[in-house]
Amino acid sequence: MKLIIMEANMLTLISGGEIFSPYYLGVKDILIAGEKIIAIEEHHSIKINGVRIHKINAEGKKIIPGFIDVHVHLIGGGGEGGPATRAPEITLSQIIKNGVTTIVGCLGTDGITRHMESLLAKAHALEKEGITTFIYTGSYQLPVKTITGSICSDLVLIEKVIGAGEIAISDHRSSQPTYEQIAQLAAECRVGGMLGGKAGVLHLHIGDGKKRLDYLFRLIKETEIPVTQVFPTHVNRNPSLLEHAIQFAKMGGHIDITAEEEPPKGSSVLSTKEAIKYCLENNIPVERITVSSDSNGSMPRFDEKGNLVGLTIATQETLRRGFQTLVKEEILELFQAVKIFSANPARFLKLQGKGEIKEGNDADIVLIDENLEITDVFARGKRMIANKKILVKGTFEN
Ligand code: ZN
Repeated sequence: MKLIIMEANMLTLISGGEIFSPYYLGVKDILIAGEKIIAIEEHHSIKINGVRIHKINAEGKKIIPGFIDVHVHLIGGGGEGGPATRAPEITLSQIIKNGVTTIVGCLGTDGITRHMESLLAKAHALEKEGITTFIYTGSYQLPVKTITGSICSDLVLIEKVIGAGEIAISDHRSSQPTYEQIAQLAAECRVGGMLGGKAGVLHLHIGDGKKRLDYLFRLIKETEIPVTQVFPTHVNRNPSLLEHAIQFAKMGGHIDITAEEEPPKGSSVLSTKEAIKYCLENNIPVERITVSSDSNGSMPRFDEKGNLVGLTIATQETLRRGFQTLVKEEILELFQAVKIFSANPARFLKLQGKGEIKEGNDADIVLIDENLEITDVFARGKRMIANKKILVKGTFEN
């Protein structure tokens, strides 16, 4: 008789950490089998004999679900200063070291030299390397670039496609789409999402233009499309845009803040902290807010006098630091921050098995110490970081 047992290493017990699922579950033990969480029980109560088990002592640590970053230029964005300013692709270690275990990728301003096919391939590559990936189909400008010919068919036929975006409005770099064009895209997202069993959101890049979210308000007023079908990002770009975003959230919409630690002097951008504080002061439920990194887009660099001195790329460090600041400065309680950085995007974008530490969910787990520094990361059950040391690197990383 051949006895098949689980591969050694496939059972992991994370023992004695204080779990914020996002909800406070107390000090418990988490049992992981393969990619999944299979049990969450009282500390010391899980007993397993006859199989090798990898035990991790999490006493003194807090345990949260991995971050979900809903706006990342996986194959690099930028290019707005000519070909030399095209930003590089993201790498696995850049992602996991910031506690991110799920990512949604998109193209950026450049829909000419960057292609949906390359974005899809990169999403598959990162998934193979260990994290979970999804993408938005389409491009900044209209007509949108897709893989199979339309947003609707991409949503139905390509598993990784969960919406369309980032499509630019109220921006000098946009294709100046009309309201009718945006309404049609939202309608296509709606049907594609339904047929594909996806959220099918229309993820809109909002620029500095004075129309702000006017199209979105018209859409809600003039059509039957639900407010949750459209998902604006960069809403902390300036105070008046944030005002519109607050109105939109009050109508039931979800808004995405672009992580910004310290906006350059003279800029109108609000930091993550300022933007969230302002949302809370205006009674926006935390459930309607997400924060994303805009990672691997290009970012201008300024000297102390505010002169442009070069370009750098956005990273997910701003996401992690934003999370830490919000909790350390007591703007949010830990469970509320976990909602914004993990549970909300999972629920809103219908990412099954994500965003919550719960039996049956994917084992995307982050351990943090008393300073909220990340010590360990598990992505789909695999230990990617142990005691602050990166264990798994991308294919071409040394
Ligand atoms: Zn953008």
